[in-house]
Amino acid sequence: MTDIQKDRIHEMRRFGCTYKHIASALSLNEGTVKTYCVRATRKGIMPPPTPLPDNLCKQCGKAVVQIPGRKKKIFCSKTCSQNFWNSHLYLVDRSSKYLYHFTCPTCKKEFSAYGNPNRKYCSHECYISGRYYGEAVDGQ
Ligand SMILES: [Zn+2]
Ligand SMILES: [Zn+2]
Repeated sequence: MTDIQKDRIHEMRRFGCTYKHIASALSLNEGTVKTYCVRATRKGIMPPPTPLPDNLCKQCGKAVVQIPGRKKKIFCSKTCSQNFWNSHLYLVDRSSKYLYHFTCPTCKKEFSAYGNPNRKYCSHECYISGRYYGEAVDGQ
């Protein structure tokens, strides 16, 4: 296991991800992840998962209005939720119905996006060159 993977395990555990989810996100064995977490917790280098700070948006830090009796919200808006998950895609469960999978028409790379079924390009660069060359061809 690399240091990068270890860091990621720590981060994912802080977000309350399960061993199974971490293992699939990092292409590791679930038992390996579990053993590592148990040892790290025992050694005191991994604090147990802590609940998220109350009423603050995890993306922008603004206060989140909670609706009594409803599931606790961790983002103030849909935009914040999408931005957060798209920059932390490895935290999203692969089976989430909000996770969409695409193949970029410019670089042919497979990528995923959260909460947006209409993405086409993997990056802004690909979007620009995809459009540019697309239009040039159309104009001929
Ligand atoms: Zn927010
Ligand atoms: Zn691309």
